[in-house]
Amino acid sequence: MHFDHLQSTDPEVTSALEGEVKRQNDTLAMIASENHVSEAVLEAQGSALTNKYAEGYPDERYYGGCEFADDVEQLAIDRAEELYGAEHINVQPHSGSQANMGVYLAVLDPGDKILSLDLTHGGHLSHGHPANFAGQVYEVDQYEVDPESGRIDYDELRTHAEEYDPDIVVSGYSAYPRTVDWEGIQAAADVADAYHLADIAHITGLVAAGTHPSPVGIADFVTGSTHKTIRAGRGGIIMCDEEHADDIDNAVFPGMQGGPLMHNIAGKAVGFGEALEPGFEEYAEQTVANAKAMGDRLQEHGLDLVSGGTDNHLVLIDLRPSHPDTTGKDVEQSLEEAGIVLNANTVPGETRSAFNPSGIRAGTPGLTTRGFDEDACREVADLIYEVVDAPHDEDVVAEVSDRVDELTDEFALYDDEGLVYE
Ligand SMILES: *Cc1c(COP(=O)(O)O)cnc(C)c1O
Repeated sequence: MHFDHLQSTDPEVTSALEGEVKRQNDTLAMIASENHVSEAVLEAQGSALTNKYAEGYPDERYYGGCEFADDVEQLAIDRAEELYGAEHINVQPHSGSQANMGVYLAVLDPGDKILSLDLTHGGHLSHGHPANFAGQVYEVDQYEVDPESGRIDYDELRTHAEEYDPDIVVSGYSAYPRTVDWEGIQAAADVADAYHLADIAHITGLVAAGTHPSPVGIADFVTGSTHKTIRAGRGGIIMCDEEHADDIDNAVFPGMQGGPLMHNIAGKAVGFGEALEPGFEEYAEQTVANAKAMGDRLQEHGLDLVSGGTDNHLVLIDLRPSHPDTTGKDVEQSLEEAGIVLNANTVPGETRSAFNPSGIRAGTPGLTTRGFDEDACREVADLIYEVVDAPHDEDVVAEVSDRVDELTDEFALYDDEGLVYE
């Protein structure tokens, strides 16, 4: 990857950007929300559209000169429609959190009631955490996963909704390894006559490929991030039925954003186009097969997986049963030293703190993009286990680091020419 212009004008930023390219190449990105976009998406995101103001929507802009902005945004919308089959799509949210904000603004008044999954059980800040605007503007009550099964108890959620009487029920999660039963959530929203927001941020790619069932046509609103499993560059998206189209569009602009990030919308258009190619379904299936292979191997090593396994792109390891004295942060730090980058995560029934929790979350979207198969993912599971078992043993960490180097060489992300991709 070359930074020809930047190199001559700004060596400091160049140095940081080159460092980041090398870091991504030389480490395993296993943070479950991360991925590697194609060179084509990078070009679109780095295009001259960053200069253009295009407040409004295609063919209804406030400024002139928007004909190419219109083309790009309409392509993003049309391709997303083809991927997801929603009646109405807004591709302007700057990110997944803004997509959720758009939905709340469209249908809630301050003080209205949100029912969502607790953050420490796999929810997201934007679902009503007190540190987030959603927790400050709205009243929030939270559900939890069943402590035994690690899964959502849909009957209990329905009872909860009946008692709390929320205005909106939020589903879709950041650290939930199982298939979500959208109808089960919808039943809870129905007993309270509440809206249902299905936030598919993590699984946008899996839903697009049909590897995870779609909430489109069940939930009133479907939101997502576009940089996670869908690989379309950083951004957000909102989908809904025609009846809510104007409310959503008005909430996003002028309700909460100014000019859309047209260069990012170009990235979305390109990434959605790539996801319509036949190879993408294979990618999504491989991502899930890789997570299952990794999870199975971790269990063979005696590690405890929340919910006992995975149906999607991530596994959540609860360290307490096998390694009660080891924390998620211990493991996160030692793994990073060895070149495996993932995150410490709270687990259901957390007994430590959010800053030093008892679990680690590991995802396969990034590895699968660079070509990892089940065998390679089993080897990564072995490496994770070795560090979990001896996080403070420098010899172990060094040996794991050597093996990570071999893997990153074998499955190179970048070479001298640029991104090695597909
Ligand atoms: C990642 C995520 C989001 C959005 O995050 P952004 O960083 O704002 O894109 C929203 N909801 C869930 C469940 C997520 O995992």
